[in-house]
Amino acid sequence: MKKDIVSLLPEELEDELRQLGEPAYRAGQVFRWLGRGVRDFDAMSDLSKGLREKLKENYSIYEPKVLRKQISAIDGTIKYLWELHDGQAVETVVMSYQHGNTVCVSSQVGCRQGCAFCASTIGGLIRNLTPSEILDEVMFSQLDSGKEISNIVLMGIGEPLDNFDNVMRFLELVNHPKGMNIGMRHISLSTCGITERFDDLAARNLQLTLSVSLHAPDDETRSRLMPANRGRGVDQLIACCKKYFETTGRRISFEYAMIDGVNDTAFHAHKLAELAREVSAHVNLIPLNHVEERQFRPSTSGHMKAFIKILEENRVNVTVRRRLGSDVDASCGQLRRKRELDRNQNSDER
Ligand code: SAH
Repeated sequence: MKKDIVSLLPEELEDELRQLGEPAYRAGQVFRWLGRGVRDFDAMSDLSKGLREKLKENYSIYEPKVLRKQISAIDGTIKYLWELHDGQAVETVVMSYQHGNTVCVSSQVGCRQGCAFCASTIGGLIRNLTPSEILDEVMFSQLDSGKEISNIVLMGIGEPLDNFDNVMRFLELVNHPKGMNIGMRHISLSTCGITERFDDLAARNLQLTLSVSLHAPDDETRSRLMPANRGRGVDQLIACCKKYFETTGRRISFEYAMIDGVNDTAFHAHKLAELAREVSAHVNLIPLNHVEERQFRPSTSGHMKAFIKILEENRVNVTVRRRLGSDVDASCGQLRRKRELDRNQNSDER
């Protein structure tokens, strides 16, 4: 089995090349090529032919292909659908804000969590992404769009804490001073609440922001929307959030997609305010993106206003996420989902 070279840290590459009988500075040369997005050993022109052959024998390397690229006519948001080495596809979104460009990356092909409003989970989990595949979402979004990426959110397809080791390795790579050097404080990791992993994450002592997809403050509503809540429960989630905040000193952010008539009543707002205050969390309200296969609708603006008012009256720190890329299927999983449907249809026709 060839090793995936882009998933290696510079110091590991150095060790590896030493074992192949190469001096340490060669690793620096190779890493610089990789850092520029070169994914072809033959293009590394300052390496000897012999070394290039050795690299080809021992390592795999792959450049993701753009299957689709959609640019929003409204706000310039760019959505990519990438083809991976095995023909699978994942989505990445590049959004421009006043403070810089944010990339939203996927961490898995599909997802096993089964949230009732989400398009990414409809076909289940296919596989984890490797560290290099996640890194290349950032790298090639930047190279292709020409927009320098300053912020990363792990809010694309997949549950990052279900792919813990690869996601941690990706963070090390993207944060590395010899790599893209993106600061942990500019990175958010979003989870549906895989609480068993919170201590592991806290132990890494990263300065990233943990976003918890809460979406409902009570077990009845939350278990209906999010199977991950069943067997865990809101109380356990809140206790783990509290511990995470106390251990790391990093404030958690609650993601809350507003769903018409499901989680947007005064009851939910009061209960949410209580939880947010208990863990000093910031609340990020998101108008639900309608997904064709799902019956849910976004809350009306009247209901949203009333909801926000209750949170503010209870001194909760709340923001409403701006909807970007609404004309390019920018809510995660929809582009990949369409491709899957097209592929199935084509194979039915054959
Ligand atoms: N699995 C992780 C990260 C991926 S989803 C998680 O659950 O947090 C990123 C965010 O988008 C999550 O908050 C998720 O609940 C939310 N989301 C999924 N489908 C959505 C939709 N149709 N409308 C609005 N937000 C959605």
